[in-house]
Amino acid sequence: MTRSVYLTPRHEEFRASVHASLATLIVPEAEAWERDGAVPHSAWRMLGKEGYLGLLHPERVGGSAQDLFTSVVFLEELGRTGFGGPRAAISVHAYMATHYLAVADDPVLDRAYLAPAVRGERVGALAITEPGAGADLSGMATTAERDGDHYVVRGVKSMVSNGLTADFHVVAVRTSPHTASGPRGATGLSLLVIDAGLPGVGVEPVRTLGWRAAGTSTVTYDGVRVAADRLIGRPDSGFYQLMRSLQLERLVAAAAALGGMDRCLEDLRQFLNGRRAFGGTLAQLQAPVHRIADLATELAAARQLVHHAAWLYEQGELPATECSMAKLHTTELACRLADASLQLQGSAGYLESSAAARIQRDARAATIAAGPSEVMRDLVGRAVLRTSAL
Ligand SMILES: Cc1cc2nc3c(=O)[nH]c(=O)nc-3n(C[C@H](O)[C@H](O)[C@H](O)COP(=O)(O)OP(=O)(O)OC[C@H]3O[C@@H](n4cnc5c(N)ncnc54)[C@H](O)[C@@H]3O)c2cc1C
Repeated sequence: MTRSVYLTPRHEEFRASVHASLATLIVPEAEAWERDGAVPHSAWRMLGKEGYLGLLHPERVGGSAQDLFTSVVFLEELGRTGFGGPRAAISVHAYMATHYLAVADDPVLDRAYLAPAVRGERVGALAITEPGAGADLSGMATTAERDGDHYVVRGVKSMVSNGLTADFHVVAVRTSPHTASGPRGATGLSLLVIDAGLPGVGVEPVRTLGWRAAGTSTVTYDGVRVAADRLIGRPDSGFYQLMRSLQLERLVAAAAALGGMDRCLEDLRQFLNGRRAFGGTLAQLQAPVHRIADLATELAAARQLVHHAAWLYEQGELPATECSMAKLHTTELACRLADASLQLQGSAGYLESSAAARIQRDARAATIAAGPSEVMRDLVGRAVLRTSAL
């Protein structure tokens, strides 16, 4: 029986089947993917075959158009594998890069990118961040200049997850660099799909502290000619598209973080119960018991926050404040939990090869990616100050 007002027995059945499936699809391979720095194409195809890459996508492209909570369950289970790299890679592909294509509902883009992405035959990446423009998109310098029936793209994108293996990139570009009164800041942006194999696309992998299987790369577009029908939506509507989709991105990050925390707490539980000390086990000492109690309580509260934000989103609202709260709270809690887990596992947790160390490295990524905590605080704080709660 389900113990959540948001989840039905069907969701729980789905959870059990995803859990079993990811235990064979991801867990045995993930160490090797971490070493290789990417999720291989064979794994993407398996994930596509299982239907995991199209849970939220429409049936017109082979997706199963499930409710959002099916995806929340999937993301929690993805987090529960304990590997942040594949979790990030799959989230970016299935819920971030391809989400823009699903919303666009464009037959050309569906055929070329979204349908093959749902099948796991083509891997997607999302390229927004630049060396000179991170949290502040107004500094974005990558340009797409119209030339007949093509755009010519020039610029550099940094921290592109899946960059190493992606077959296509959803890229934020500046299509209207200037107005009479000066630079257009965050407006004048558009989203273009760029095939990774086009002449002028250069990919350079970067080493990161965590999420090592996510294929993070710097991508250079050096005069890349992109057919104009690869534009997503209308020209200059990129900022609006980004602002809408960022809410889902934050929700996805939060749901995956919940699963990561479940894994972390379970690893810690097993360690404390198994580690003998002072005539019993560490699990019998009051200090770890109280620490676990606090963290488990916070995790339970975080789950309610995330599920409530998902429920609001499912009602057709765009709950920007709740999505930001969910992302902020879960990803920061995940860092605290990972740190406590490492500490309470002593030297075993401090070994570089330990799961505790990997979980801690991975947790740090999530408070920066998809919007740093400080930006989330800014959004939440300003929204609260604007609105009376009474
Ligand atoms: C592991 C990882 C994966 C990523 N994957 C992708 C990807 O696939 N595609 C992509 O496009 N990008 C990706 N990013 C980039 C990510 O979106 C940016 O890191 C993020 O937007 C912040 O930009 P920045 O790193 O340039 O930080 P900056 O904008 O330089 O900011 C630096 C720091 O300043 C503080 N700060 C910034 N703005 C504010 C503010 N308004 N108020 C208060 N403090 C502030 C924050 O502490 C922030 O961390 C990824 C990042 C990481 C770490």
